[in-house]
Amino acid sequence: MATVTGWERPAARRVRALRARLREMYGVPVMAPHGDPLGELVLTVLSQSTNDRNRDVAFLRLRERFAAWEAVRDAPVEEIEEAIRPGGISKVKSVRIQDILRAIGDPLDLSWMRSAPVAESRAYLVELPGVGRKTAACVLLFAYGLRDVPVDTHVGRVATRLALLRPGARSEEQHDALLELTPRGAELEFHVNMLRHGRRTCHAQRPACGVCALRRMCPAARE
Ligand code: SF4
Repeated sequence: MATVTGWERPAARRVRALRARLREMYGVPVMAPHGDPLGELVLTVLSQSTNDRNRDVAFLRLRERFAAWEAVRDAPVEEIEEAIRPGGISKVKSVRIQDILRAIGDPLDLSWMRSAPVAESRAYLVELPGVGRKTAACVLLFAYGLRDVPVDTHVGRVATRLALLRPGARSEEQHDALLELTPRGAELEFHVNMLRHGRRTCHAQRPACGVCALRRMCPAARE
């Protein structure tokens, strides 16, 4: 149905064509679920306002210094802050990490999500301090290969320019809408390929529409 902004929900055929074009450019990502939901939660906190490299350095330092997530939860916050310093804003992130781990409580274990209904796991995750739909989707998809599609800043931008998402839609709506457009089993592929496209071509400032392989299918290219 058309909205006041002229946006219409995309037809399944158009979504299929876009996915196929993205696959031609970037292939089909192969990434086995890592089975560590707590690690994924911590990683998403560490990824705020920094690049992947600094995030990973901070994560590795944390894993090297603490033998278990229980030890991270119970350590003096200054020790966490010191360990994750290379990831930036470590004062805020150290508190957030401990808040999340404490909110999960004992046992510090989310492995029940492997076999629980996805909606139930998602509802649990978004109740944790500072955890939104994107983080919840990362945990479900990357830890256990469950059905969810994280909409980060790149994915949201590309999908909005391609008119897959309603302009101005907020995170909750974006996640619900993109999930609905994504066929079962294509969650990882769609997420990773749109992310790649956002990083390589469809930049936030000055998207490279002139060389973009999607331009014939993209309403934003015509603007
Ligand atoms: S044509 Fe431009 S706006 Fe559309 S997806 Fe490509 S780079 Fe982004």
